[in-house]
Amino acid sequence: MRGVTLKTGEAVPALGQGTWHIGDRRDRRKEELETLRLGLDLGMTLVDTAEMYGEGAAEELVGEAIRGRRDEVFLVTKVYPHNASRAGVAAACARSLKRLGTDRIDLYLLHWRGSVPLRDTVAGFQALQRAGHIRHWGVSNLDVDDMEELSGVPDGERCVADQVLYNPARRGIEFDLLPWCDRTRTAVMAYTPLEPDRLARNRALQEIAARRGVAPLQVALAWVLRRPGVIAIPKASRPEHVRQNRAAADIVLGADDLATIDAAFPPPQRKRALEML
Ligand code: NAP
Repeated sequence: MRGVTLKTGEAVPALGQGTWHIGDRRDRRKEELETLRLGLDLGMTLVDTAEMYGEGAAEELVGEAIRGRRDEVFLVTKVYPHNASRAGVAAACARSLKRLGTDRIDLYLLHWRGSVPLRDTVAGFQALQRAGHIRHWGVSNLDVDDMEELSGVPDGERCVADQVLYNPARRGIEFDLLPWCDRTRTAVMAYTPLEPDRLARNRALQEIAARRGVAPLQVALAWVLRRPGVIAIPKASRPEHVRQNRAAADIVLGADDLATIDAAFPPPQRKRALEML
């Protein structure tokens, strides 16, 4: 599978696994665990979670899924903005490590911007990195102006990734944030790359899918993955879905497919405020 090289030189898979709402339902636990492990078997070894998801339930489930396989995984989790002070990130990280059953997080993200000054959060992340509790840090839901501000605080340029909403129906970042991230070698992690409610029944995606004998959401995922430097983290809790998602990483869309998508979802011609879910 294609990789994305972080600015630190480490390569991670371009296709990972999301976990929002995983771990919410006891009766789905077995299948969710099997699905996550199947994803690892298929090479989707980047796993994205957050302390927010099920208030720790998703991290616990991820911890169980990766037990005995920790070294295969690039583990991403996120801290709530209200925990993002220097002391707060240390405490939140310790709780996440415990739930995840590991001694290190590979990438620790600020979930969205809150009232804690960015310089305090960065100082907290740097201290966690020096102590070996996290290997890299980044942010989520930060637009260009926030990224510029972040770059200006001490060690702010060490941010390796910005996790943002990106799929064919949410192209705003193509105008400015994606180019900014390309220039600064900041990886873009595309969240909600499938957005089934908006994309599963879209005519253009259906037309391309029919042409290629695949499913419309696989076309959406292949489209997100077409850009170098972009990591996609679809969430699946059923084995057939994770298999389809893995297969989508091998679909190479042609110029005619991209033109069909551009006609249905025109690329941005001016600045749009960053959308968030
Ligand atoms: P998504 O991955 O775009 O869509 C998830 C939905 O798609 C689930 O209902 C899933 O169903 C379904 N699905 C998955 N694969 C499918 C397939 N091949 N065919 C048909 N349906 C399929 O949305 P998301 O969960 O919102 O986003 C992905 C991840 O990004 C999250 O889980 C989370 O880790 C992260 N995220 C981050 C933020 C942030 O603020 N940083 C915000 C939102 C999300 P099943 O579960 O039934 O398989």
